[in-house]
Parts: sequence; structure tokens; C-alpha cells
Amino acid sequence: MTDPFCGVILNPYCSLDCLFCNHPPARTPIKESRKALRLALANVDSLATQGYHNIEISGCDPAETEDIFALLKSIKKARFKQIMLSTNGVRLADEPFLDKIVGAGVTIVRLPIYGSNARIHDSITQTAGSYDDLIQACSTMSKRKYRGLKLIFTTLLMKQNKNDILDTVRLAAKYRPHSIHVSIPCIKRDGESFAIPYRTMRRYAKNLLSFASRSRCYVDIKDIPYCVFGTFSNLIRFSRPPNLGKYNQPPKSLRTDIKNLPSYRYKVKMKYCALCSMDPICPGFYKNYISAFGDPKLKPLQIELP
Ligand code: SF4
Repeated sequence: MTDPFCGVILNPYCSLDCLFCNHPPARTPIKESRKALRLALANVDSLATQGYHNIEISGCDPAETEDIFALLKSIKKARFKQIMLSTNGVRLADEPFLDKIVGAGVTIVRLPIYGSNARIHDSITQTAGSYDDLIQACSTMSKRKYRGLKLIFTTLLMKQNKNDILDTVRLAAKYRPHSIHVSIPCIKRDGESFAIPYRTMRRYAKNLLSFASRSRCYVDIKDIPYCVFGTFSNLIRFSRPPNLGKYNQPPKSLRTDIKNLPSYRYKVKMKYCALCSMDPICPGFYKNYISAFGDPKLKPLQIELP
């Protein structure tokens, strides 16, 4: 999947209340939902003219509204090849709903998994039963009839699951996904309650990298700079925001000087980055982590770039 994805957003409602998310779990009023759908549909039309073949539907949570089908209809009409649905998975345990989603053209499902058991996963989603829903959705998707549907897992290394993160990835791998992406949560507010300072995340990040390099399933680690690991690896990657088009740009309060990039994803470099051999290929640290925890004072790398 090297062809770039563009993206549309639907934010109707989410039945989870994840620690790192500041989207209220309350349902969006009908009038606003109508407007959100109109904007998403306009975005599909506009993105379709820009030559993209792949599109991602994300938001909080796009599958928790029947509007998803109007959106999928318009995406299918615009002839996108790969349609990725990023969802909390709550509705995918329902087989008739999953059939309808696949029938409407979804080719990839991206699911978050935060723990290898209900205690940890639900403590992060702050929603009892969310782990059971997710596991049920994964079992349903394992059925033969969904063979053509690609599954991608995402997980986040954070305070609540740092000692469970390898087991979380192992559990995800059991469902034979296309890939597993491990990252860290962005800080929008109250980062201290869930985020791990870069310096402290070092040992967990190194264990993850060692696991990823041995895993038969494709596991990559995203948005953690090389100096945290103390080495270079092709499995350390950095995400780029998809083109969110004219109509789904971040709200004004979160916009940055970079198109499509909300302020909580903004990255900065430290002075010592200029001495690091990874400087040309590393985007640096999340600015909000530096604001919350200060300079991590990590050692710049002095190794030859491959
Ligand atoms: S460029 Fe800076 S943030 Fe990136 S690996 Fe080097 S020291 Fe770390």
C-alpha cells in the first residue's frame, strides 16, 4: 500500500471515551451531523478529481452512524480502489453490519487495540465491554467469507499498557493482520495521565523494536524518533497526515502552518538534533511532549545512514 491515501472525516459520535481523545462521547446534534455529511461528500468529490486511488474514512467514530453508507456510496461512485475504514470496531462484531460495510466497498479495516485483556484495554477506552466487542469483531472478521478484507491494527504505547504492549501486539498478530502499527498517543490535554516521556519510553521502545524485527507479522513503530531506540531501523517510521481535502481540514483552533496537520501532531527538533546523523530523515519530537515533559536530553546518533 505505497500509493498515498487521502482522507475524509465523519465525527458523529463515539461510544468509547479514550483517555487521549478529547472528542466528547455525546452524540452530535442532527443538524451538525447533516452538515458533517455534506462536507464529507463534497470532500470525496473534490479529492476524486485530484487523482487519488485510495481513501481513508476516519473520525470519532465513522461506523457509528448510518451516514457511513451515504458516504461509501459516493466513494464507490468516485471509483476509489482501496477504501479504508478506521473504526473502534464496536459495530463490526455485528455480522450483518459487517456484510453491509464490505458490500458497500470497504477493502481495509483499521482497528485500535490497547491491551491484551479487558482490564487494560477498557482502562484506556474508559468503556467497560469495549475489549469484548473488539475481540468479537476480530473473530467475525476471521471468517472465510471476509478473506478479501485487509485488517490493520494500531496500538499506542502508554502508561496504562507499557508492560503489556508486547502481549498486545502478540494478540493482534493472532488474527493474521496485514500489518500492526505501534505508536504513541498525541497529547491534546492532560498528557501526564497517559503519556510516557521520551526518555522513559526507551526500554519499552527497544523491546518493541526487537520484537518487530523477529516477528513474522509486519510490525512497524511509528513517530518515535531514532534516538529513543539509540539506533536506525527500517521498522521505525514516521506518519504523514493524509490529504484531508478542502472540507475536512482540522478545526481553526488546531490548524498549523502545515496543511492537514493538527497542532497536537506538530513536531520539533532540539538544538542537538543538528549533530545527529538521523537529522535529514527524522522529523523530531512531538511538541506537546516537550511542553509537558521538557527536553528529553537524548543522545544524537552518530551512525552512517544506510
Ligand atoms: S534528529 Fe533529533 S529527534 Fe531525531 S533521532 Fe536525532 S536527536 Fe533524535
